[in-house]
Amino acid sequence: MGLLADLDRGILDLIFPRDCAVTQLPLDAGPFLHLSAAGAAALPRITDPRCLTCGHPFDGWLEGDRSCPHCAELHPAFGRALCVFRAKGPVRHILHRIKYERSPYLADDLVATAATDEAFRRHLAGSILVPVPLHADKAWSRGYNQSERIAVGLAGLIPGCSVHPLVEKYRPTESQTRLDRTQRLRNVAKAFRLQRGQTVDPRRRYVVIDDVLTTGATLHACAAILRAAGATSVDAAALAHG
Ligand SMILES: [Zn+2]
Repeated sequence: MGLLADLDRGILDLIFPRDCAVTQLPLDAGPFLHLSAAGAAALPRITDPRCLTCGHPFDGWLEGDRSCPHCAELHPAFGRALCVFRAKGPVRHILHRIKYERSPYLADDLVATAATDEAFRRHLAGSILVPVPLHADKAWSRGYNQSERIAVGLAGLIPGCSVHPLVEKYRPTESQTRLDRTQRLRNVAKAFRLQRGQTVDPRRRYVVIDDVLTTGATLHACAAILRAAGATSVDAAALAHG
């Protein structure tokens, strides 16, 4: 089904030449399929210093105060989450198109850009990437799982990574967009489980992959499944921090 969306794009490209997903100007001869060099440079990136738990940048926080308002109440099952972009401006727009406008191919350029981020590469290198799953009904209606596409793309660009969809979502949940932190945690509790017949290797490191980290509730819920199955090293990563 994701392939169908890609084919759609291919046909559209014949009719309408591609524009940059950020600048809306015709594409240059850069390395990306849907981003110009100027568009890639305009993506809001996260740099150090940042929260060592959820990856949110420490923008303007008081020196010495290292309690992060984005994850202070989470107590996550993952050790550390890292994100490359802020989920605002053009990144927010592209992520929305990936998820809700049948544009999974737009993830590939964000992935390629993310894979050039040294901190992100180090965070993922050598690990097993576990995409956040969709419920079967959602996967069928959307036609693809954007987190899986992101994980597969990253594994192709970062040394030693492989993708194992070890977690499944067996209970549908309501959209998280209008829920607060506590409601999100409650919403995703008991929604995931280990895929039937799968096991984890306690000697390996696992990184749960999502498109966006907002409160961290979903990444936490998936990490908790891996921990309960015996994983001893579980981290998280998302393209963007909401
Ligand atoms: Zn944090």
